[in-house]
Amino acid sequence: MPATCSACGTSPAALRRPKTGHALCRACFLAAFEEETHQAIVAGRLFRPGETVAIGASGGKDSTVLAHLLQLLDQRHGYGLRLLLLSVDEGIAGYRDASLAAVRRHQHRSGLPLHVVSYRQLYGWSMDRIARHLGPRNNCTFCGVFRRQALDRGALLMGADKIATGHNADDVAETVLMNFLRGDVGRLRRGAGAGPAGGEGAVPRCKPLRHAYEKEIVLYAYFQGLDYFSTECVYAPQAYRGYARALLKELEAARPSAVADLGHSGERLSLRSDLRMPARGTCQRCGYVASQPLCKACVLLEGLDRGLPKLGIGKHRRLRDKLQDGQPLTQEERRRLGALAKEEPPEEQVPLGELGRDEELWGKQELRGPRDLDF
Ligand code: SF4
Ligand code: ZN
Repeated sequence: MPATCSACGTSPAALRRPKTGHALCRACFLAAFEEETHQAIVAGRLFRPGETVAIGASGGKDSTVLAHLLQLLDQRHGYGLRLLLLSVDEGIAGYRDASLAAVRRHQHRSGLPLHVVSYRQLYGWSMDRIARHLGPRNNCTFCGVFRRQALDRGALLMGADKIATGHNADDVAETVLMNFLRGDVGRLRRGAGAGPAGGEGAVPRCKPLRHAYEKEIVLYAYFQGLDYFSTECVYAPQAYRGYARALLKELEAARPSAVADLGHSGERLSLRSDLRMPARGTCQRCGYVASQPLCKACVLLEGLDRGLPKLGIGKHRRLRDKLQDGQPLTQEERRRLGALAKEEPPEEQVPLGELGRDEELWGKQELRGPRDLDF
């Protein structure tokens, strides 16, 4: 005989909650999940009445559940928000085009306005073209930097006060693990909170699903019959995050609370008070937030535009700075630059089909790239 729901005591249980182990019926699970998200929003003071909130919409399960929940909870509890969907088209054929189709279906059903910003439009490079130049590794470094800026630029264009992203408890725990393993103190400090926080970007961000387990988000989407896209990005298997994810899955199998515990550890982490954090300034080239003379996106673009994409990645920093400043290179530096150039594959033509796809996404909108955007 099936177990009875431990909340209502009448209906048969439909699942055992991964987060708490409680047996619940469908209605009680949906109610509990929605109420917990509402409580996280209230406790974290994530929104203020009258705010315009751009929901980062990728078409995947997390952002689809987030968009559904924010619309529902806004109506139920009278948050007084103006909600918008904001998508980033990285230019990854067979992945982002299919997931953007899911976003459009959601837009159609929900009636929320949608805006799409593309890497091609903003930076002159699609991820597929970057990957052809860069090879299989480090693509997520470029993509992550570009996406952060693209979301900010899209949000500013839409007049949004805040960006809400679909990061869940598993994402946060992976990030804590990854930053810890890399010794990235700056990111450890700002990575685990639910927000709102200015962080690195120009528009404050928040993560309303920051305490929701990934498995429960999947269950919520399933029981609500939400339509989302679930294929993994073609460049994901090479990402360092994958190792943190695999480690987290092992930890979770041994102890389910490991996901929440790691997130709490990240939140409570205290850093030495004499630790120097980078000062926040603006990029000399594009005006975006930067802790160096050039923002990370402009540094990566500099390497791409010179035909030396690896110049933009960590270990070549001194060489890059000298090139940017027009300083003479030592013999050893000239040798390294030559070796770097030999590593690069030959220039490839961008297929016209890709250009057509971006123009179709963008319609007739006017948006300038980071070289001439000024805010
Ligand atoms: Fe971009 Fe990497 Fe995510 Fe693919 S897996 S969308 S390349 S960050
Ligand atoms: Zn810049």
